[in-house]
Amino acid sequence: MTAVEASPPRGAAAGDERGVELEQLLMRDLEGEVAFDDYSRHLFSRDASMYAIRPVGVAFPRDADDVAAAVTAAASLGVPVVPRGAGTSLAGQTVGDGLVLDMSRHMGRIHWIDPDARTALVEVGVVQDDLNVAAATHGLMFGPDTSTSNRATIGGMAGNNSAGSGSVRYGMTIDHIRSLDVVLSDGSRALFEPVDQTERERRAAQQTLEGRIYRGLPEIVDRHARAIAEDFPAFWRRAGGYRLDRLADDTAFDLAKFVVGSEGTLAVATQALVDLVPKPARTVFAVGHFTSVPAAIAATGDALECGPAQVEMMDKTILDLSRRKIEYADLGKSLEGDPAALLFVSFTGDDEAELVANLERLDALWRKNGHGYHTLRAVTPAQQSALLKVRKSSLGLLMASSVGTLRPLAFVEDTAVDPTHLAEYTARFKTLLDGHGLSAGFYGHASVGCLHVRPFVDVTDPAQVATMRAVAIEVKDLVAEYGGANSSEHGDGLVRSEFNRSIFGDDLYEGMREVKRLFDPDNVLNPGKIVDAPTMTDNLRDPALPP
Ligand SMILES: Cc1cc2nc3c(=O)[nH]c(=O)nc-3n(C[C@H](O)[C@H](O)[C@H](O)COP(=O)(O)OP(=O)(O)OC[C@H]3O[C@@H](n4cnc5c(N)ncnc54)[C@H](O)[C@@H]3O)c2cc1C
Repeated sequence: MTAVEASPPRGAAAGDERGVELEQLLMRDLEGEVAFDDYSRHLFSRDASMYAIRPVGVAFPRDADDVAAAVTAAASLGVPVVPRGAGTSLAGQTVGDGLVLDMSRHMGRIHWIDPDARTALVEVGVVQDDLNVAAATHGLMFGPDTSTSNRATIGGMAGNNSAGSGSVRYGMTIDHIRSLDVVLSDGSRALFEPVDQTERERRAAQQTLEGRIYRGLPEIVDRHARAIAEDFPAFWRRAGGYRLDRLADDTAFDLAKFVVGSEGTLAVATQALVDLVPKPARTVFAVGHFTSVPAAIAATGDALECGPAQVEMMDKTILDLSRRKIEYADLGKSLEGDPAALLFVSFTGDDEAELVANLERLDALWRKNGHGYHTLRAVTPAQQSALLKVRKSSLGLLMASSVGTLRPLAFVEDTAVDPTHLAEYTARFKTLLDGHGLSAGFYGHASVGCLHVRPFVDVTDPAQVATMRAVAIEVKDLVAEYGGANSSEHGDGLVRSEFNRSIFGDDLYEGMREVKRLFDPDNVLNPGKIVDAPTMTDNLRDPALPP
């Protein structure tokens, strides 16, 4: 079904019947609230993506017992379960025809922070910024940092394997999860953590779903060993598919890291033990001004030589959008001329003199190599305030720039290639869009080759819907030429899962399907994401509604 057909949203008819019984079961078994009214179902039919599927109902678990009870009840009636944090996902992985489990309302407790071990035990509904505020009292922070840090949850970050602007230094969420308490698809509970051979065998001997998983996964890894070794995209920054490579590589068998990025399709996490990193005392910025996007990207290599914490690229489309908003007006005033692209390079650490020396080194390198026509330095808080405001808002600015039904949509917005290929890749990406007559805003985490591109598309026009899918296929093939990732931090969801067979190849994709069947034989957990997904143009949100 495409958006142009006037059918009711999925879940509307069948959901009502299943909903009555499920609602009664949940009201009996859960401490937390449930909401099966039309308004709540409408609210939870969407996330930050271009999709909408009306759920059967919504539950707001208070704790892990509630989560287990909800999964058990839904599974008993054959109703899928869609775990949800803040619902800021861009790929549609938080919408589905089932019971939405909103972990953000009640499950936001930080149990403890251990400053010596640099770890924190948190419930999955904890918001990143809240964890950072608590950790800052110990001079610590959570490494991954999404632009949505004021609302996105640790559970959602683990669900998507989120990264953000600091990943050149801190990697992705998978690198910071030590263990996860989970509810499995039959409602049973398990602790996923690294285990040695003896412990793995002990767990595998259990006559439970957990036992079956510990027995079955090594067999899947063995069966698909060649594909696991050879067929994953080469580039490290990946948020797509199931991470069988982590099981094959790691000496300790670590199901916690394995399920990171599984988008709620393998288990529902209730609690996470996460690593924290030292919070740098100071940040300084250089903002390079360039006459074109390729010129800005070409300057990234010099920036990387200086050991930055972030290198963020923003093009004129986004810059012009920021100029129109009063809250970002100060940025425009501090810029020199009318740059076609900016590169925000930040250096973080405890020694200001060292950071300023990095700025000087970068400035000198850019001058020597003829990169850019001006570099703005922001060292003091006053100099930085305008930059800090706009730094995390690029995607938000783009998302708010619709003109009627012509909207900047997220469907090729998350590719990444090795930064050494980024200039050539970006040029070819732009040519590809031009070939289809699409305009787009470009920004991205240039330090890690991640390009967030949102072409403007009108999904009320069936021809443009077809173009959108054609472009998605061409971009998927283009990024593969560079050994890059089709999904580098936003996940597969409804928008990219369709292409996973082509991306990973038959052998590896079949291994991933076996994983799904092993963890979730009855297809209860967030079905239709990562494997066995619908076409990306199914389930598009009604374009008559506001974005
Ligand atoms: C404006 C904007 C900017 C963004 N910038 C970035 C960025 O810089 N970097 C980045 O990486 N991402 C970014 N994102 C994407 C998104 O914000 C992140 O993926 C975020 O971490 C998702 O958190 P959430 O709480 O909203 O999760 P949700 O969207 O609610 O869920 C994410 C996934 O995890 C699953 N899930 C949620 N909770 C659980 C659980 N307890 N157990 C199992 N599965 C679960 C869900 O089913 C879903 O598949 C951006 C999004 C927007 C709208």
